[in-house]
Amino acid sequence: MCGIVGFSGRTQAIPVLLDVLTHLEYRGYDSSGVAFFEDGRIKMIKAKGSLDNLKAKLEGEPINSNCGIGHTRWATHGNPTERNAHPHGTHRVAVVHNGIIENAEEIRVFLLANGYNFLSDTDTEVCAKLLDYYFGRTGDPVHAVNKLVRKISGSYAICAVFYDFPGRIYAFRKGNPLVVAEGKNGNFVCSDISAVSDTSGEYYPVEEGEVAEVSCECIGFYDSFANPVSKAPIRHEAHHSRSDKGDYEHFMHKEIFEEPEAVRKTVSSLLDGDAINLGINLSDEALKSLTALHIVACGTAYNASLVAKYTIEALSGIPVYP
Ligand code: GLU
Repeated sequence: MCGIVGFSGRTQAIPVLLDVLTHLEYRGYDSSGVAFFEDGRIKMIKAKGSLDNLKAKLEGEPINSNCGIGHTRWATHGNPTERNAHPHGTHRVAVVHNGIIENAEEIRVFLLANGYNFLSDTDTEVCAKLLDYYFGRTGDPVHAVNKLVRKISGSYAICAVFYDFPGRIYAFRKGNPLVVAEGKNGNFVCSDISAVSDTSGEYYPVEEGEVAEVSCECIGFYDSFANPVSKAPIRHEAHHSRSDKGDYEHFMHKEIFEEPEAVRKTVSSLLDGDAINLGINLSDEALKSLTALHIVACGTAYNASLVAKYTIEALSGIPVYP
C-alpha cells in the first residue's frame, strides 16, 4: 500500500504535498516523488528510500508552484529505484498510481507499436503513456481518462495532471481508496482523508467510474460518459485524527499497542443488542446451503484469516480456505 496526494491552492504546493506524504508514511513505501506545474512545464522530482531523501532534494530547489501531485511507492512492478519511482509520464501528462495494472504488458506492446518508449519497469508508466495516447486523440482530460479506464484492468487509485490544463488534477479509482477534500487554502486529492490537516472539514469519496476534477477554486465530478455528477460532501469526523507515530518509535509498535482499542471499536460497531450484525443480507436458508468459505487477504489480514479459519470451521462445520 502506498500513498497519493494532489493539491491545487493559493499557497506553495510542495510543502503541502510533503506534509501530507509524511502523514501517509504509515502505509509503508520504498521511494517517493512529486510532479508540479512551474514555468509552463510539468516538472518531476523523485528519490529512492526515505521521504527525507525527497525532502533533501526539494530543499535545494527554489520551486514556485501552487499545484502538484505526490506519491509514496510500494513497488509491485520493477525494483524500488529512483527510475521506477512515481510520477511517470510524458511532456504533457504526469501520473501517480497506487495499485496494479494487470494488463500492462499487452498495453506496453500496443504503445511500443505506436511509437512510445519506456524509461521504467512499472505498470504505472504504461498507464501514463496510454493516458497520453488518449489525450492526444481527444484533447480532453476527462474523455481521455474514461477511455483509459475502459482499457485497463486491475486495481488503482490515480492522480493525473496535464500540461495543457495547469492547476487542475484529475483523479479516478477502482478498488483502491481516493478522496477529494476541500481545504482552507486550496483543494486536495488523497488516499486517506486523515492525512490532510488543512481541510474545511468536508470531503467527497471518489466513486468507481467517476472522474474528479480538482482545481484551487472548484471540485467537480464526471461520470463515465463525461456528464457532470453532483455530489454532497461528507463531514470529516473528528475521530479521524491525523496518522502520526505519537510517542511510539515505529508505526508497527503503535499499531500493536492500539489493537485492543481497535478491536473494541470494530466489534462495537457491529453489535446489535447481544447479537453481531455484519450487515450481510443472506437468509438462514442461504447461509445453511454454503459449502465452503474462501477468505481473500494478504499481509497481516492473511495471518488473521488463518486464525479465523479455526474459529469459523469449529462453529460452522464448513471448510474455510484462507
Ligand atoms: N504498481 C505500481 C508500481 O510498481 C504502483 C505500486 C504502488 O501502489 O505504489 O510502481
